Amino acid sequence: MKTIVILGGGYAGINLVDSLKKELKDQLGTAVRVILVDKNSYHFRKVLLVKAITEDADDLQLKVPFQRYISKGIEVLQGEVTRINKTGNIVEIEKEDHQVVEVHYDYLVITLGSRVKDNENFIGGMTLKDESSAHDIKDRLIDLINKTKKLNSDHKRQSNLKIALVGAGITGIETACELAVWLKEQALIHGIDPNGVEVLLFDPKTRLLHEAPDHISSRLEKKMNKFGVKFFSNTRVKEFNNGYLVCTDGRKYEIGLCIITNGVEVNPTIKQLQLPLSDQNQLIVNDCYEVEGHKNIYSIGDCARIIDPITNKYDGMTCKEAIPQAQRLAKIIKHKMTKQPNHIVHTSYPVKLFCVSLGPKEGFVWIQKWGMNFTLTGQLGLRFRNYTWNLASLLK
Ligand SMILES: Cc1cc2nc3c(=O)[nH]c(=O)nc-3n(C[C@H](O)[C@H](O)[C@H](O)COP(=O)(O)OP(=O)(O)OC[C@H]3O[C@@H](n4cnc5c(N)ncnc54)[C@H](O)[C@@H]3O)c2cc1C
Repeated sequence: MKTIVILGGGYAGINLVDSLKKELKDQLGTAVRVILVDKNSYHFRKVLLVKAITEDADDLQLKVPFQRYISKGIEVLQGEVTRINKTGNIVEIEKEDHQVVEVHYDYLVITLGSRVKDNENFIGGMTLKDESSAHDIKDRLIDLINKTKKLNSDHKRQSNLKIALVGAGITGIETACELAVWLKEQALIHGIDPNGVEVLLFDPKTRLLHEAPDHISSRLEKKMNKFGVKFFSNTRVKEFNNGYLVCTDGRKYEIGLCIITNGVEVNPTIKQLQLPLSDQNQLIVNDCYEVEGHKNIYSIGDCARIIDPITNKYDGMTCKEAIPQAQRLAKIIKHKMTKQPNHIVHTSYPVKLFCVSLGPKEGFVWIQKWGMNFTLTGQLGLRFRNYTWNLASLLK
């Protein structure tokens, strides 16, 4: 019996399990077994983190128990990966009770992903990094509303309801709109003028969604303005201190709260594994996702440095890339197991796609195909967004 061990049940890990089920269906449980290892007992739907600020966690289905992905020949082991013994083909897993178990592999796939960058230099700023930080942000916002109610000065009331977001990627855009809508609702409930609510979104880039044509970026920006979100391009934030947000160009804004949404970094566990790393600490892999110098160790998802051989560009750290990588790797492993020559060529991603929610009722989707640009907005955009969220976690 051959054993495939997958380290990490994030988007890359669960989609690889799903694709292996399809590719190896006749062998699973008889000739092949797959062991999915994760420190948690559930798949965490990171892409919904922003909703954890404003919505009830139970309604969100943020955590999907791994049981949902198990079938014949697929096992789950809960514990933290600590070490790989490459000569013995063994991976060491520390369980919750600190007991270390050794798991033998024939094929090992590392999908340990990334974590949100925590920028502690922003004194007083809060980073949206996990479920508990989302709850802390909500508590701070509720506190702000309660304090605002007691203020007499209109100026102070307005600055209290000004929220700054640092970083205008997908998370920054979605958080800005979600909070603008939610804060206005809360203001009304508490008898405060909702027009005082303003969300300032800062980014050093020249425009939102910079990979799309100018007119698409402007369209997105206009939609966000409608919710009370103001975008500051070409602006790097230096610090948040004593209620003031200071930018590197010297501009200063009086605000109530600063939230940091400035991207992700590779999971630090990757460094411990003593495998070849890029300067961004991603595992260096070849065009079949094999880790350099290790024929039976593969890596995909956020923790791997993958170059698209057609465009010669690095794959981004998003689900949009992780999922096709998982589908392709399942085929590569199948070919390797059956000793067939590898014909699994890399095909470029079929479309350029960008998809965000703009608050609880609208979405914005941009698709580029055949040199043309398509957008979906409003409720239709949100429906598409919901579909991609569910698809990524295999919740059909
Ligand atoms: C707030 C936020 C919003 C995002 N929104 C979008 C979006 O809208 N669209 C999009 O395409 N992408 C989005 N992304 C990026 C997307 O989430 C990542 O690209 C995706 O999660 C990568 O999947 P992965 O499987 O490589 O890694 P991860 O999803 O990070 O999975 C890694 C897994 O490894 C496990 N793990 C970690 N360390 C250990 C250890 N030592 N031992 C055992 N298990 C371990 C973790 O528990 C986790 O299950 C977002 C990211 C964030 C943070």
